[in-house]
Amino acid sequence: MNWYNMSPDDVEKNTNSRMKTGLTTDESKKRLAEDGYNQLKEAKKPSAILVFLNQFKDFMVLVLLAAILLSGLLGEYLDAIAILLIVIMNGILGFVQERKAEKSLSALLALSAPTASVLRDGEWVTLPAREITAGDIIKVSSGDRVGADIRFTGTKGLAIEESALTGESVPVQKQSERISGNDLPLGDQSNMGFMGTMVTQGSGEGIVIATGMKTEMGKIAHLIQSAESMVTPLQHKLEQLGKILIALSIALTVLVVGIGVYQGHSIYDMILSGVSLAVAAIPEGLPAIVTIALALGVQKMIRRKAIVRKLPSVETLGSTTVICSDKTGTLTQNKMTVTHLWVEGKDWQVTEGNGGMAGRFLKGGKPVDVENEKTLVQLLSYAVLCNNAEATLEEDENDDILLKGDPTESALVVSGLKAGLTRKQLLKLYERLDEFPFDSSRKMMSVVVKNNKGERFVITKGAPDVLLEKCDAIIWNGKPQRMQRWYSEKVRKALSTLGSQALRTIAIAYKPLKGSYETADQAEKNLTFVGLQGMIDPPRPEVYESIQQCKQAGIKTVMITGDHVVTATAIAKQLDILPPDGKVLEGRALSAMTDRELENEVDQIYVYARVSPEHKLKIVKALQKKDHIVAMTGDGVNDAPAIKSANIGIAMGHTGTDVAKEASSLVLSDDNFATIRSAIEEGRNIYENIRKFIRYLLASNVGEILVMLFAMLIGLPLPLLPIQILWVNLVTDGLPAMALGVDQAEENVMTRGPRMVNEGVFSRGLGWKIISRGFLIGVMTLFAFWLSLQQSPDQLVKAQTVAFSTLVMAQLIHVFDCRSERSVFHRHLLENRYLVGAVLSSVILLLIVIYTPMLQPVFHTVPLTIRDWLLILAMASVPTVCPPGFHFFKKKGTSEPHRPHKTAI
Ligand code: ATP
Repeated sequence: MNWYNMSPDDVEKNTNSRMKTGLTTDESKKRLAEDGYNQLKEAKKPSAILVFLNQFKDFMVLVLLAAILLSGLLGEYLDAIAILLIVIMNGILGFVQERKAEKSLSALLALSAPTASVLRDGEWVTLPAREITAGDIIKVSSGDRVGADIRFTGTKGLAIEESALTGESVPVQKQSERISGNDLPLGDQSNMGFMGTMVTQGSGEGIVIATGMKTEMGKIAHLIQSAESMVTPLQHKLEQLGKILIALSIALTVLVVGIGVYQGHSIYDMILSGVSLAVAAIPEGLPAIVTIALALGVQKMIRRKAIVRKLPSVETLGSTTVICSDKTGTLTQNKMTVTHLWVEGKDWQVTEGNGGMAGRFLKGGKPVDVENEKTLVQLLSYAVLCNNAEATLEEDENDDILLKGDPTESALVVSGLKAGLTRKQLLKLYERLDEFPFDSSRKMMSVVVKNNKGERFVITKGAPDVLLEKCDAIIWNGKPQRMQRWYSEKVRKALSTLGSQALRTIAIAYKPLKGSYETADQAEKNLTFVGLQGMIDPPRPEVYESIQQCKQAGIKTVMITGDHVVTATAIAKQLDILPPDGKVLEGRALSAMTDRELENEVDQIYVYARVSPEHKLKIVKALQKKDHIVAMTGDGVNDAPAIKSANIGIAMGHTGTDVAKEASSLVLSDDNFATIRSAIEEGRNIYENIRKFIRYLLASNVGEILVMLFAMLIGLPLPLLPIQILWVNLVTDGLPAMALGVDQAEENVMTRGPRMVNEGVFSRGLGWKIISRGFLIGVMTLFAFWLSLQQSPDQLVKAQTVAFSTLVMAQLIHVFDCRSERSVFHRHLLENRYLVGAVLSSVILLLIVIYTPMLQPVFHTVPLTIRDWLLILAMASVPTVCPPGFHFFKKKGTSEPHRPHKTAI
């Protein structure tokens, strides 16, 4: 028999489950041990040894190995061993880098692992989806990804989109009755839910019947294992650049070797030099260092509560020009407290706090006993009944209230509690029969209740202006009156007064229910308006500052909210989002606009009010048409298309649904706007750091090639020996470059405009800096070599040691210059501890190879005197200290500006 043929009771028996209490933790552990985790098997990762061996597959390493062989054959054993050691060390370094990059990436993926709502030991708990086991009772609701295969035992308006399995994108309505028939296709198994499918509407509960590879998804897992691209645009560009650099380095190397041989150097020496030079000149470590810089930056973002789901977005973050942010919970605290009530044309204030009963409700500033205020009690109690939040009074001296559920609904429960109206008591008077859940597009929620006399009522709460249109009566002077214009004007006026105080408003209405209804629309009409509750939701304190910083960084902040236009405007003004000439657009007007009309106005609009999630996509598209790089926040299922289309889709960690999170490239673990700002800052910095070490590595390589090339051209002896070149490649290029990858942000990182999204690797003067500094490094090294030779023409080894040291020191001094786009003097020298450490260790290693007698024959070095060092340091400082002289050329258009501050206010 199939699961869908069985009744829920049979499924319960067959899975040895308990529908009422779920599995016990012990039982679930036992099952987990037997069946394994609820996850699809991933493609096998290459073993550590394979990763290590892979390091030697590189073409240049193979060339080096050939060079070792050649040295060995010619009896130059010391050279052979030294080069071999360097190749091995290089391999180890590459291995460590690759492993670190991979680990950081998989840690990222683990962070965004899905969770599920599971009944364990009689309590609903949220667990990682991988811990679900057969027999568990799980609950799904709109926006969730179904965590395992389940047989539903109860559903409420449940619809699931199963295209991942069936290819059919229209959601399937689900129910819990048994179905007859055999071999039904998955799409017809309407009482089943399948792992990986997406709940688009309603909610449901069911028993897990299969997990992991045993699920329907597991059966086709091999077909769908497609990893999303984790390669960033910059990495892609660097890959292409790498190929060009290889060709260029080889060409130059061949040139150097050719000239060298022509000048009379020995062929063996020149081949070895050429090979070493080619190896040193090709920045083979670059891709790994880029990945490490990205991964480390991303870890830093996690500490700042921003979880990057798609690596390429790290780069896009730095180019963001507009942030479209939800209001509730992102700009504000989502801590709602009802402070104002309005019934029958009268205002009431509600005092904050939960203290003693007296003085909680004020009318005209005076405390009033609410018991005798019939309509007010009706307003408060209906709001508690049409509600899914729970509040319990803690038994401590503070009378704290423990709240569970949606903050708007919780606020209504608390306002009822303050009048002594508890849900428990009210449910004794009214039995709840049905519910039409809240939805951001409808902007209301209704319940159907039955009182003790058997009379049925619809109670609706929702956005007042929307609800008002569904009302044909209003309670006034204790009795329902026909909703004449005079009354609706009164309501609108009250709404505007409450809204202008930045209060979020909820209206309550009801009707006695006669006859039947099918849909929400049928139930929610001809209602009687009862009154309004207005609640404060204070802005998050740090948001104001963040918005100012975004402005400075050339980023516009736009508020998108389902709230009333007056409330939205008031908050936007408080937060300084809305400039005096900025526009506010309402959802209704937005719907009426064509795409072209919106594009024409979009730059002037700062607040979108009473919008539905569907509107967000239109806004994203219009902004993108105007060349904006858009970051868009969202949490619900309906937000997913906009999140996906935005350049940076941002989902809320707390309130976000699985669907929104999966569509996003960034998740805010604290739902806070300020975190978006930090992520952008971090994104900009990561990109700048990558530019820093590209500059460092390539300038170093240019220097290394030029010193050899010029020496050959002038007819000088070899200034550097192969082993020395390889040493520079390993030590001087490796550690400091990595340290640049974690460099601190320059202080102007958030005061300049966003980076152009399509800018080239060498834009903003980077190419010029690489060539000019590389040129100077090469020339000064050669100059030091020549001077040393002039002083003592018969001491070639000493001159080579001087050249070697000058090259190393010039690079190690230049690395500090790479920290700033402006000049070395703009930054504190010791700020980056890693860099100071890397430079010091490189210097110590240099001293070791020069002054350790045992190593001197290996590296062909001799001890140097203080005088030599003075010469070395003087020559090595030139490339970093003198470039102001180059500024004249640089100004002639080599530096591309950032995007102009056109979006800043
Ligand atoms: P955003 O988070 O984008 O700023 P929002 O969360 O304020 O928007 P919605 O949740 O769509 O927007 O709410 C829109 C309106 O619906 C609110 O102003 C309020 O009047 C009403 N509303 C909100 N929550 C509920 C609820 N649980 N029941 C009934 N009405 C609600």
